[in-house]
Amino acid sequence: MWIYLNDRFVDRKAAVVSVFDHGFLYGDGVYETLRAYGGRIFMLQQHLSRLQRSGHLIGLDLPIPEKDWPALLNEAIGRNGLMDAYIRITVSRGEGEIGLDPGLCKHPTVVIVALPPQSYPPHLFRVGVKLIISRVSRNLAAALPPRIKSLNFLNNILAKQEALQSGAFDALMLNVEGHVTECTTSNLFFVRTGRLCTPSIACGILDGITREVVLLLAQEQGIPVEEGAYTVEALRQAKECFLTNTSMEIMPACQVDHLPVGSGRPGPLTIRLQELFRSNLARFLG
Ligand code: PLP
Repeated sequence: MWIYLNDRFVDRKAAVVSVFDHGFLYGDGVYETLRAYGGRIFMLQQHLSRLQRSGHLIGLDLPIPEKDWPALLNEAIGRNGLMDAYIRITVSRGEGEIGLDPGLCKHPTVVIVALPPQSYPPHLFRVGVKLIISRVSRNLAAALPPRIKSLNFLNNILAKQEALQSGAFDALMLNVEGHVTECTTSNLFFVRTGRLCTPSIACGILDGITREVVLLLAQEQGIPVEEGAYTVEALRQAKECFLTNTSMEIMPACQVDHLPVGSGRPGPLTIRLQELFRSNLARFLG
């Protein structure tokens, strides 16, 4: 396996990072997860812009200019003999002496990993996944903004552990006002009173790129869409519910806190959006 590390592609065994890297010591860094279909990357420009934004929000200048990323990502896929791929870009603050001052790190560390796409058990897409409402609140936007896609992932890991301990697929986190936000690596959608609802960015979520595509597809089809602040009670009235992210695309959710959502099976709008996503995919490939 070829991995890009800082300025060249190296074999997996040689792809090692210093124990003084501030990504390792402090979770100081940013990342992106992308997906390629048939050798073409989904929403490439949007992912690169978000990476740039995340870096900017933590005062980290990406050492690779935006125009050079596509060739590197394509090389990462090609060298590993992949057409369909999961690609992860990690940019950490880099190696430096102990201490929080980012100035201690002279050069950010850049890693690009390309792997076969993550596979989810196919039956999950047919029957839907189970969610719990987490006791762990989503990070406060005024403390660690969820729109920074940072290496600092403990907030989500604590919630994920809670989900796994209770036999659920994932945990839905609430913000401090008690409004639903997102799951640990995905955005939330639900259908209520004939509308496709999703928590607004202001609720303190990552502005997911799959979320953006789903909203666009729904609007193009004249499906009523609403972004807002929703309580758990509002979610309980949902007839359908699903999650979105780059790896899963659209994943139906059939249960929240052991109660069925609607009929307890993937609903018609969820299935329609899954089909629309697939049939429109080529429009979104770079
Ligand atoms: N929310 C969180 C916390 C995430 O980590 C992710 C993806 O990793 C998403 C939402 C979905 O984002 P995207 O659709 O851009 O993959």
